[in-house]
Amino acid sequence: MGSGLVVFVAVDRQRRQNSWFVLHRSPPFVAPVTPPCAIVAPNDGSQFVIGGTAEYAMPLPKLDDVQIAWVIKEVAGYIDRQRQTYRERAIPLERNQRTVMQPFFPASWLDSTRVVVLSGQRVMNPPFYGDLIKMGFDPITLPDFKRMNAITFLDTVVSHASFTERLLFHELVHVVQYEKLGLPKFTAKYVRGFLSGGSYESIPLERNAYELDARFAAAPAKPFSVEAEVEDWIRAGKF
Ligand SMILES: [Zn+2]
Repeated sequence: MGSGLVVFVAVDRQRRQNSWFVLHRSPPFVAPVTPPCAIVAPNDGSQFVIGGTAEYAMPLPKLDDVQIAWVIKEVAGYIDRQRQTYRERAIPLERNQRTVMQPFFPASWLDSTRVVVLSGQRVMNPPFYGDLIKMGFDPITLPDFKRMNAITFLDTVVSHASFTERLLFHELVHVVQYEKLGLPKFTAKYVRGFLSGGSYESIPLERNAYELDARFAAAPAKPFSVEAEVEDWIRAGKF
């Protein structure tokens, strides 16, 4: 989340050069737009751009400490319940998945991780999203679980599509993060990372997982220890 396809954009060149107003949001916000897009110029001095892609960050409401603690507690409860829901249907890694992942992950965690590929079903968004919207969150800013490729709940990975090696690798990094931090700390860091960064992509736990899955994808035959990398980030206070 945090980026999206803009269906209708306008720019007022007289007042704000190079600023593009996305009009289908209320309040409208400003974002740079990547062509291809069509420019329509009515006679009132403004120009409208139709199409194009914009990367944007929506401002999130400022929560007080009590509200943040409440969100963290709700997210932890959601993760724990989802893990229970899917764990009994989930299965161990296949032999070839295990072989590929073995040089990067401790064997005991590859043994205990379970995976499930859903078909005709999606992971539901947390029930407390309604409360977050009441607190002032724009729904577009909330991570949409239904649209994610896969989600890891502690040691249980739920996927909406069959696993690529890179996707599985990414989710296994989260398994390591949960193991190293424990559920309460993982959740607190995930929620605080989201609130301070303003988007899913800015969460340090995600950046760590994306960085390591990219390193794996670039050189799948070059082993490194995901556990050591995650420990480095913890020591350096990067989460
Ligand atoms: Zn992730």
